[in-house]
Amino acid sequence: MTDYTALATKLRARLAELAERSDEIEDDLRGPLDADYSEQAVDLADDEALEGVDAVLRAEARQIGLALARIDNGTYGTCTNCGATIALARLEAEPAATRCITCA
Ligand SMILES: [Zn+2]
Repeated sequence: MTDYTALATKLRARLAELAERSDEIEDDLRGPLDADYSEQAVDLADDEALEGVDAVLRAEARQIGLALARIDNGTYGTCTNCGATIALARLEAEPAATRCITCA
């Protein structure tokens, strides 16, 4: 059985980083609108872009959370399609991978 301890540590660090960036974005989104109408339009456009970034960060965080849960329950690194062990190099490049390179 492969030891995923090092990978799990990296994933937890990445998750913390994502949470931090999400928090910063949310702080920014909650910021007051500029009194000037044209500035408000810029703020709103910025907010939309930030919401897009936030959604991407959240999606990655969710994938990492699922990967960590699979590491914890021992199903991580096993192809959900053929049951083969997924190469560690593949998991390091794509931690959320649930299929081996052949089935991907
Ligand atoms: Zn497979």
